[in-house]
Amino acid sequence: MSAAQPVVIVTGAGSGIGAACAELLAARGNHVVISDLSGDAAESVAAQIRASGGSADAFATDVSDAQSCAALIEAQDRAGRTASGLVNSAGCAHRAALADLTLAGWQKVIDVNLTGTMLMSQGFVRHLRGKPGAIVNIASVMGHFAAPNLSPYIASKGGVAMLTRALAVELAGQGVRVNAVSPGYIETGMTDRVLKVRRYAETILRRTPMARFGKPMDIAKVAAFLLSDDAGYVTGQVLPVDGGMTAGDTGLASPTLAEIEAAEADSVAI
Ligand code: NAP
Repeated sequence: MSAAQPVVIVTGAGSGIGAACAELLAARGNHVVISDLSGDAAESVAAQIRASGGSADAFATDVSDAQSCAALIEAQDRAGRTASGLVNSAGCAHRAALADLTLAGWQKVIDVNLTGTMLMSQGFVRHLRGKPGAIVNIASVMGHFAAPNLSPYIASKGGVAMLTRALAVELAGQGVRVNAVSPGYIETGMTDRVLKVRRYAETILRRTPMARFGKPMDIAKVAAFLLSDDAGYVTGQVLPVDGGMTAGDTGLASPTLAEIEAAEADSVAI
């Protein structure tokens, strides 16, 4: 990497949305610190970026572990560089109805998705030592509305949305912007098994006005914008990138007057 190159840390960057963010940020001239629970997955994404002429290195980090997060940040200090951006994309889900939910299942999702976002943001802000910076959290449409059997995930993502706003307000005076992207249903390792359940996939498509699943790059482009100076006056926003899912439901199309009159005529006939 060159001395003038901006540095961005991306967690959960060994696959899916995090990997797409890393690839796009590298293609736009950033040195990207690829961090993932799996050091091999992180190294594989970093190697691909380097093979395409970009600049990246890889770290194994468990974002739910304070010492692991601290080690990732200390490695940047030791390398004599200051990152100016952080993307918190590491995440996991646990599917269970409340009656079957274990404390361990609940705790893991909260620890990774919510506490991990806090720990990495805290380490990043300490590392900035008063320099400006930007954080983008990957929240979820499931932080805007709810569905059955996902309560730990939904609670964690609602928490990420409010943590985003809390840190934005707290850190604005230090020149640190904090925003979040809320993906709809994106084709990644997190969704590939559930989207094989046809009734679920069809329901999601029916509830998505654009009638398609998203791609990781759909999210990466918006995350890159929120990190960039183009979003220099944007902070505390939790932006759905969801094909219109949180805007409304095409299934709620109001009946036309002709349909209403036909229904009324039917009921008169009865
Ligand atoms: P993904 O491909 O499974 O990526 C998540 C990555 O996070 C994986 O590489 C995973 O590693 C890593 N990870 C899990 N636990 C970790 C930990 N403790 N420390 C560090 N890394 C950890 O899924 P994705 O869809 O790209 O998810 C990225 C983010 O988007 C998540 O926060 C997710 O909640 C959010 N999101 C996704 C969707 C969607 O439809 N895909 C929708 C809304 C929000 P392992 O594979 O080794 O576990």
